[in-house]
Amino acid sequence: MALIVQKFGGSSVADAESIKRVAKRIVDTRRAGNDVVVAVSAMGDTTDELLDLSRAVAPSPAPRELDMLLSSGERISMALLAMTIHSLGYEARSFTGSQAGMITTADHGSARIVDVTPVRLREALDDGAIVIVAGFQGFNRDTRDITTLGRGGSDTTAVALAAALDADVCEIYSDVDGIFTCDPRVVPLSRKLEVISAEEMLELAANGAKVLYIRAVEYARRHKVLIHARSTFTSNEGTYVLGEGMADPRLAKGEDMSDVIGKEEPVVAGVAIDRSQAKITVVGVPDVPGSAAAIFTRVSKSGANIDMIVQNVQSASPGHTDISFTLPKEQAPEVAKLLQAEHTELGFQSLVHDDQIGKLSVVGAGMRSHSGVSLTLFDALSSNGINIEMISTSEIRISVVLGDTDLDKAARAVHTAYGLDGDVEATVYAGTGR
Ligand code: ASP
Ligand code: MG
Repeated sequence: MALIVQKFGGSSVADAESIKRVAKRIVDTRRAGNDVVVAVSAMGDTTDELLDLSRAVAPSPAPRELDMLLSSGERISMALLAMTIHSLGYEARSFTGSQAGMITTADHGSARIVDVTPVRLREALDDGAIVIVAGFQGFNRDTRDITTLGRGGSDTTAVALAAALDADVCEIYSDVDGIFTCDPRVVPLSRKLEVISAEEMLELAANGAKVLYIRAVEYARRHKVLIHARSTFTSNEGTYVLGEGMADPRLAKGEDMSDVIGKEEPVVAGVAIDRSQAKITVVGVPDVPGSAAAIFTRVSKSGANIDMIVQNVQSASPGHTDISFTLPKEQAPEVAKLLQAEHTELGFQSLVHDDQIGKLSVVGAGMRSHSGVSLTLFDALSSNGINIEMISTSEIRISVVLGDTDLDKAARAVHTAYGLDGDVEATVYAGTGR
């Protein structure tokens, strides 16, 4: 008997019909002879609606009360799901995060899981029940308060449950078929990947791919949990995310792998695009020690998440240089204002705030052992007349910042250039991937 953890996102339980579909799927898994533990998100846009409500009554709601409010979204879906399973003739028991033993830090709105003590879940499983757990929430032992894990936190709940219960697989269901080589809405010839390494998945997720949350993938990698990202709407296999040293599940199934084994993995696994960033350029910074430190001391005070940073050798005016960096669009106006306010002290000439940018990243573990990977990217962009504004690299990633209107065209060109195109257009769902 296997133990399977299944996570259903908000779009999979958006209304009564969807909840029934999900319940049936859970029951099918149970009927096939598995123990089933489910982590569920709030229905549809419930979390956003609750957030709007809170802001309508208070300009900045107390974090403790906000977590009380937001955690209720998942309680609604967990109870409805359990009831639906009952009506299909199966036993199911729902649990809040704290009942499930999801112990977290005390940080409201962004708590991290520090321990999972699933005593009640084990009891329920031993009684033969299907277990339903409210995603996205936990409990802090010191404050004795309910916490939430941050947006999209149900993925992390599911992976943490899978780790604590030593599950065979953690299936993450959404409205897309799995992990694609790029977003099929932008690149129609994107292909669904059968497997991807956790390290590649982390880079893709950190650079704009939305199917899985970074924290969940990190948790899975650390605790050796096998993730299977798949669709609620089909029974097709999705994509397995493999941590280091984990066996390829296709082998266990006795699949013919002769065309995979012994062949080298493609150098590039996928292309990610990100429209959420803006770029700030500090023009004419004095080219002396301490300039960057002075700027980023200011920037860090705002709590902004800086992504790329580029400093030119020297700008047009001697003794000066330009420093550009990218950060989330919504944080850029405040940071620009902050720097502008210290214009004289920082001694720069001017400030340019550009939010018409997009980032394209090419990710592949094979980059470690292959040369010329970046040249393919630059060639594809140049032959399409696309200008590069910034470049950054990691061991397994090359990212470029482009004008936002060039992003889609660039993604298609680069996808083709790395030989990632499939033979047919991918099915595109109206969904969000959540
Ligand atoms: N309901 C929460 C959110 O919308 C958690 C989740 O969906 O994973 O962010
Ligand atoms: Mg949600």
